[in-house]
Amino acid sequence: MADRAQYTPDELEAIRAVFIAATPVPCPRCTTTMTVRPIGGGSFGLGYARQREWLICPTCRRSAIFDVKRGTRN
Ligand SMILES: [Zn+2]
Repeated sequence: MADRAQYTPDELEAIRAVFIAATPVPCPRCTTTMTVRPIGGGSFGLGYARQREWLICPTCRRSAIFDVKRGTRN
């Protein structure tokens, strides 16, 4: 899929580090603040607390999906 721009593994690690520490996350390519969308997925009742977050850069159209472990706070 050559038309689908992606981040490198290094960039993904950088995004993840910032995202875990604090949002908003700047895009490593163009420094635009990335949009964060939680992905629900209808996983209620599966017995584990897993949340996926979809980070999208509105300028260069790259995106990244992370599994984020939620803390005990709810
Ligand atoms: Zn970007």
